[in-house]
Amino acid sequence: MARRPAVPRIATGNRKVIPAPEALQRLREGNRRFVTEATSRHSFKMAEAQEPFAIILGCADSRVPAEIVFDQGLGDLFVIRVAGNIVAPSQIGSVEFAAERYHTRLVVVLGHSRCGAVLATLEEMQRPKGSQSRNLRSIVDRVRPSVEPLLAGPHSDNPDALVEQAVRANVRVSVGQLRHGSDVLEQLIQERGLAVVGAEYSLETGVVDFFDEETVSKKEP
Ligand SMILES: [Zn+2]
Repeated sequence: MARRPAVPRIATGNRKVIPAPEALQRLREGNRRFVTEATSRHSFKMAEAQEPFAIILGCADSRVPAEIVFDQGLGDLFVIRVAGNIVAPSQIGSVEFAAERYHTRLVVVLGHSRCGAVLATLEEMQRPKGSQSRNLRSIVDRVRPSVEPLLAGPHSDNPDALVEQAVRANVRVSVGQLRHGSDVLEQLIQERGLAVVGAEYSLETGVVDFFDEETVSKKEP
């Protein structure tokens, strides 16, 4: 059986908990600023229609907001965010919806360094607690198949490298599921130049590394 190295734990720190009323207040104030300040910067003309040029399936992590890291504005990106950027039927359906309805031709699965969902999966595989809710388990179970083989691989005794490889493996699995898990998307890929690529955002540098961008130019109709 493969040796199970210690995986870096999810950092929780000594943070102050923001009570719900204060959190709600911050959001209200933020939206007021947005409405007053942003009206001069953004056009709200797209209220009637949208033409997003890319679909991003990203992690729900608070540090990876797609619109900000790609420097895009309102109406530019169709963003689906879920912990661990996993692909379940509702994510496939959302991608199908945007690709068909808005003729968006690029899908990016955006993972990121130190992903909590990937770390939680590795932790669970090392020290099964059995205390996760069924719902959380459904996320871990979708990440597990992409990281399991790595525990027997060359990086199994290097926790940092293991997490790095696991993040990329998880993105690649999601890319594969979008490319091959839907008749609608498969047809759009073959006939309409839809491209699905993987990418990883670095929390440390802000740089997004696209894995296989060459497949995009090849697929131009
Ligand atoms: Zn994440």
